[in-house]
Amino acid sequence: MRPPPGRDLGKSNAQFARASQRLPLGVSSTFRYWGDDRTIYVDHGKGGRLWDIDGNAYVDYRLGYGPAILGYADDRVDAAARRGMEVGGVFALSTERELAVADRIAAMVPAAEMVRFSNSGTEAVMAALRLARAHTGRDSYLLVEGGYHGLFDAAMWMANVEGWDRNSNRDPEVISYSRGIPQELKTLAHLVPMNDLQRLEDTFRRYGDTMAAMLIEPIQGNCCGITASADYVRLARALCDRHGVLLIIDEVKTGFRVAKGGVQSLYGVAPDICTFAKAVANGYPIAVVAGRREVMRTFRYGGAAHGGTYTAHAVSLAAAEECLRILDETPALETIAGYGEALKAGISTILGRRGIAHSYAGHPSMFGLFFAERAPDNYRDWKTSDYSFYDRMALFLHDLGVICEPDSREPWFICEAHGTDDACLAETLAAVETAVDLTLEHFEAEKRA
Ligand code: PMP
Repeated sequence: MRPPPGRDLGKSNAQFARASQRLPLGVSSTFRYWGDDRTIYVDHGKGGRLWDIDGNAYVDYRLGYGPAILGYADDRVDAAARRGMEVGGVFALSTERELAVADRIAAMVPAAEMVRFSNSGTEAVMAALRLARAHTGRDSYLLVEGGYHGLFDAAMWMANVEGWDRNSNRDPEVISYSRGIPQELKTLAHLVPMNDLQRLEDTFRRYGDTMAAMLIEPIQGNCCGITASADYVRLARALCDRHGVLLIIDEVKTGFRVAKGGVQSLYGVAPDICTFAKAVANGYPIAVVAGRREVMRTFRYGGAAHGGTYTAHAVSLAAAEECLRILDETPALETIAGYGEALKAGISTILGRRGIAHSYAGHPSMFGLFFAERAPDNYRDWKTSDYSFYDRMALFLHDLGVICEPDSREPWFICEAHGTDDACLAETLAAVETAVDLTLEHFEAEKRA
């Protein structure tokens, strides 16, 4: 058996040893910890690539979970951000540019009749839920299993499929995905499996008149790109209308990525409220909560509170203006989707030659790869794919200079720079081919042992 490819991570390992004395797990987000000897520290990124402090180069398909829609350190956006810096920071007052960016968003996303800025996806979705509650005067809400809406208490309820028997008639247990979430909040969160129309109807029949909102990512950006059927999203819209529930489409990952008008434009379904973050400013921290005029006007004194010291920060806002201009006025999103298609086709050729069953979900700009004949259409079925093959392959890919999330539930993200960098595709496919063979050998060896 060929020895596994090596990478020198000496400097990253030493950095980890020091950093973990000061920063819990040596990082600033728990998902950045990949093990004591595999956690890498970035020196810099450019385009679709990044370099760690040991000098290892990677083609990056994690892309910080999606923000770098054009690529790292995009010269056009960075120049705009520098102009934003000259504005002077934050004033706890507004600037003219807020309207210019809001106008652009409204032109790209017709449901965004009015716009407020936040700093992060979490803040935007938190504001959206508060807005829905304030507007409807109701407290409970509906989540779709496999969705992710950020790190605030109300959003942190999930179906525990890992401790669940698929063959039982019971639903997976609803658990919080962190300790420290008051368990009494669970009664406000209802969960439904994606794409089960009957369950959706039943849930609305039972709880519809007490729910403020239904939150949905029609392409689940944190669950392999599992995709809602058009019927499901249309039914959700109709049920929300029937029961006076506000439909929140969380486009933190899909927004300004899968289409200029976001995932909602692919379905032709208008939400009452929608949220955006990652691709808005190519990585500068800014997020958007937007929606129907009548609903958005509930952001007022005596209505739903919204604000924050850093909202509409001049640097992020200037970056957003330029990033959205590029996405709106140039074929960047076509370049991204085209590269995603080519990458999927290349991976399929490699897997097909070896007779390995696989499938994809999501959109070419953010796709999930499954080792199963058919991609699941809900989170419960994710369990039926061979995710242990994926998880092992991901580690080999890292060693070979390609970064994807080591957890198969995170899609592969594409940026414009992947498509304009002549070498990215060939380099990636060569690494995938080797990683697949190493993974096959790894499991063969395990079987023999
Ligand atoms: N909603 C969705 C759909 C997300 O994917 C994320 C982040 N992955 C969030 C909300 C939270 O965004 P942030 O990490 O910027 O707080």
